[in-house]
Amino acid sequence: MEPFDFTALLPPEVRARVAQIKDPARRVLENKVRAYNELPGAEDGSGVNCPACRNKGYVAVLDEDGPRMVVRYCACRSRRATALRLKACGMLDRAKLCTFERFRTDTPLQTRMKELSQAWVEDRPGPWLAFCGQSGAGKTHLCTAAFVQAVARRELAGEYMLWGPALREIKSSLFEAGAALLERYKSAPLLYVDDLFKGRADLPLSDADLRLAFELLDHRYSNNLPTILSTERSFPQLAALDEAIAGRLRERCGPYLINIAPGPEKNYRFRGEEKCL
Ligand SMILES: [Zn+2]
Repeated sequence: MEPFDFTALLPPEVRARVAQIKDPARRVLENKVRAYNELPGAEDGSGVNCPACRNKGYVAVLDEDGPRMVVRYCACRSRRATALRLKACGMLDRAKLCTFERFRTDTPLQTRMKELSQAWVEDRPGPWLAFCGQSGAGKTHLCTAAFVQAVARRELAGEYMLWGPALREIKSSLFEAGAALLERYKSAPLLYVDDLFKGRADLPLSDADLRLAFELLDHRYSNNLPTILSTERSFPQLAALDEAIAGRLRERCGPYLINIAPGPEKNYRFRGEEKCL
């Protein structure tokens, strides 16, 4: 007959102390696990603060088989990777503001725009997402939210291209530097082109700008690279500017293309609540 274990009558914390004293090897292991988990990690710039791993990205646990110390990935790892990807393309701060949850749907158009963006995120990778037309309707907010979700869920490196400034940079850089920048946008695993062809709708675009847009979008079309796009031009205006670009956009987007017909009542920018329309 087993002798009665009197330590079973003790409170759990006292029982653990007794077990440690009775088993010094285990005590050493437990201290090792604790010491590892208390060790702070180096600052990785992700802005994620995780008390479980103290920002190392790994946690130690005591594996009863052995027993031995085992080091595992921490649950914060994917959050950390997503934050670093968003930081690399300059979207980390905007990602916090422009979420699906923060998007207000006061009108049927906004509801449709939000539902479509969310459906695009849930769909298989492949189709493009595009919002064309009236400014201030929430295109940038929803494109950003969809971009962030795609970076996180599909574990993709993304690039953000604000059309006007990016174009000026490509054109003003020395030949090789400009070509390298364009190449980065052309081959990004996920690209968000914001405000394509921004400018006065009544002013003609230069042939050079149109050629550049075609080169970028045709490359992504031919290589089936996921792309998100917003433009103040309506879809018919886009088709009048360049039929080939509009055709590729329509084909790649399928159902994920919304054309917002012009109308000042659809400009919600001056409501004062949304920060990133
Ligand atoms: Zn962690």
